[in-house]
Amino acid sequence: MLRFNISPVNRKEDLVTAKSQAMQAMSEHEKLADEVHHLKLLLESVWILLREKTGLSDEELKAGLKAVKLKHAEAAAKSEPGKCISCGKAIASESARCVFCGTVQEKDRLF
Ligand SMILES: [Zn+2]
Repeated sequence: MLRFNISPVNRKEDLVTAKSQAMQAMSEHEKLADEVHHLKLLLESVWILLREKTGLSDEELKAGLKAVKLKHAEAAAKSEPGKCISCGKAIASESARCVFCGTVQEKDRLF
């Protein structure tokens, strides 16, 4: 939260707080980057196994990815905002969690 206090003592405290928050955000960013990297490696490993076990080709995977991207783009273009199952506020229909109250939205779909 930004505070605008012109007292020199509080300005120093604000700077310390801002530095601490920035360092925490950087740490969280690094953690997320590590998780994304791990998921990329896991996905590649799963694809290699799947390709070897089924004989699927990279071209088929690319076509599948293209179809999924198109499906999501079409859904996003015509989707209306959903409503949180708990607080009833409007949230993106794709949201897994309400940004207002944090309630996990029940979905019966796989992805
Ligand atoms: Zn909610």
